[in-house]
Amino acid sequence: SKPIVAVVGRPNVGKSTLFNKLVGKRIAIVEDTPGVTRDRIYAEGEWLNKYYTLIDTGGIEPESEDIILSQMRTQAELAMDMSHVILFVVDGKVGLTNDDREVAQMLRRTKKPVLLVVNKVDNKDKSEHFYDFYELGFGDPIEISASIGLGIGDLLDEIVDKF
Ligand code: GDP
Ligand code: MG
Repeated sequence: SKPIVAVVGRPNVGKSTLFNKLVGKRIAIVEDTPGVTRDRIYAEGEWLNKYYTLIDTGGIEPESEDIILSQMRTQAELAMDMSHVILFVVDGKVGLTNDDREVAQMLRRTKKPVLLVVNKVDNKDKSEHFYDFYELGFGDPIEISASIGLGIGDLLDEIVDKF
C-alpha cells in the first residue's frame, strides 16, 4: 500500500492550506470522514511518479486551550502511528510558540522521519524567526509558502526521498 504522509502542527499554521496545495490538481479524493471533521482529510498525492496518501490531521476549529492541546496530542499520536513521514508545520510569520514546543515534544518519541516545515514565508527572504526553529530538534527547517506555492517542489522532493 501507499506510504502515508501526515500534516501536523498547532492550529492556524497553514496545515490545510498546505494539504490542498500538495494534493492540488494531481489528486483523487479518496475518503471523507464525517463526524471527525468537515474538511476532507485524506487525499491521494503524487510526485515524480511516486504515490502517497496525505492526511490533514487538523480539521475542527478548537475553541479553548484545553481542546487545542488535546487535539494536538491526538494528531501527533495519529501521525506517529499511521504515517511513514510526518510534516510538522510551524508559522514563519509568528515564530516559535509554546504550542509548537508541545507538538515537538510529542513527536520526539517517534522514530519516523519528521520534516520541519516553516510556512508563510511568502517571499525569497528567510523568515526572521528561521533559526529559532532549530530548538525544536528536527534539523534544518524547510521554508515554504503554502498559499503562494513557494518551496513546494523542494518539499515534495524531501518527502518522497523518505519513502
Ligand atoms: P490550519 O489551522 O493549520 O489548517 O491553517 P489553515 O490552512 O486553515 O490556515 C490558517 C490561516 O493561515 C489562513 O488564513 C490561511 O490563509 C493562512 N495561510 C496559510 N498558508 C499561508 C501562507 O503560506 N502564507 C500566508 N501569508 N498565509 C497563509
Ligand atoms: Mg486546518
